[in-house]
Amino acid sequence: MARTRRPLIAGNWKMNGLKADALVLAKGVADGVKQAGWTDRDLLVCPPATLVMAVAEAVKGSTVLVGGQDCHAKPSGAHTGEIAAEMLRDCGASYVIVGHSERRADCGETDAVIRAKAEAAWRAGLVPIVCIGETLAEREAGMTFSVLATQLKGSVPAGASAVRLVVAYEPVWAIGTGKTPTTAEVAAAHAHIRKVLDGLVADAVDVRLLYGGSVKAGNAAELLAAGDVDGALVGGASLKADEFLAIAKAV
Ligand code: PEP
Repeated sequence: MARTRRPLIAGNWKMNGLKADALVLAKGVADGVKQAGWTDRDLLVCPPATLVMAVAEAVKGSTVLVGGQDCHAKPSGAHTGEIAAEMLRDCGASYVIVGHSERRADCGETDAVIRAKAEAAWRAGLVPIVCIGETLAEREAGMTFSVLATQLKGSVPAGASAVRLVVAYEPVWAIGTGKTPTTAEVAAAHAHIRKVLDGLVADAVDVRLLYGGSVKAGNAAELLAAGDVDGALVGGASLKADEFLAIAKAV
C-alpha cells in the first residue's frame, strides 16, 4: 500500500506569549525553516488565539503553517469568549488542535464535543489535530489501548480521510512532566491507533500520527524513529525557536 505520510512537527504554545516575544519566536522559526531549506516536512505553530493573525503575518513568505489551539463547534452566535473555526481560518490558520488533554480535563470536553469541533474545523477548511491519550491511572490499570480506541471512535467524525485529519497520541502523564514512554510503548500505541483508524478512515494508512509529551531536542530523534510516528506535537520545547527547529531537524 502506498505510504504518503509527510512528517509534521507542530508547536502548541498554549497560553504563552505576548505579541513582541511571539513575533520573535515566529520569525525565528520561519527563518530557520528557510535556512534549512526543508521541502520534505511541515512545521506548524499554534499560538494563542490572540496572536494567530500576527503570527500568520510574521511567517508569510515561509512554509511555516499556523494553527489554533481549540475552536467552538458553531460558526457564530451567542457563545461569549469562544472562537469559531471560521475565525481562525479568517486569521490565517490552516490547522486546529482539538481535544487536547488540558481541555478535556479543564473544560470537561467529551469525545462528542471534540468530534463536533473536528467537524467544525472541516466546515471552515481547517485540518483538525485530534488529541487522544491515557492518564497514568489508566495506563497502570492496563487500559491504554481501550482508552485510545474509545477516544478515537468517539472523537473522529465520520467521513474522515488522511488529507483532513491528524491524530496526536499524547499520554497525559507525559505532558509537561519530562517523562516519556519508551519507544516500544510509543510504537505499540501508534500501531494500535492505526489499527483502530482502519475501521474508521478509508485511507488510514496515510493518516499522520503525531507523538506528543515532553518531546525535546535531546529525545526527538529516538521518539520520531519509533514505528508509525509521523511527527510530534510539542508543548514547552516549541517556545524556543532553536529547540523547536532542532526537533524538526531530527525528523
Ligand atoms: C502538549 O501540551 O501538547 C505537550 C506535548 O506538552 P509538552 O511538550 O510540554 O509535554
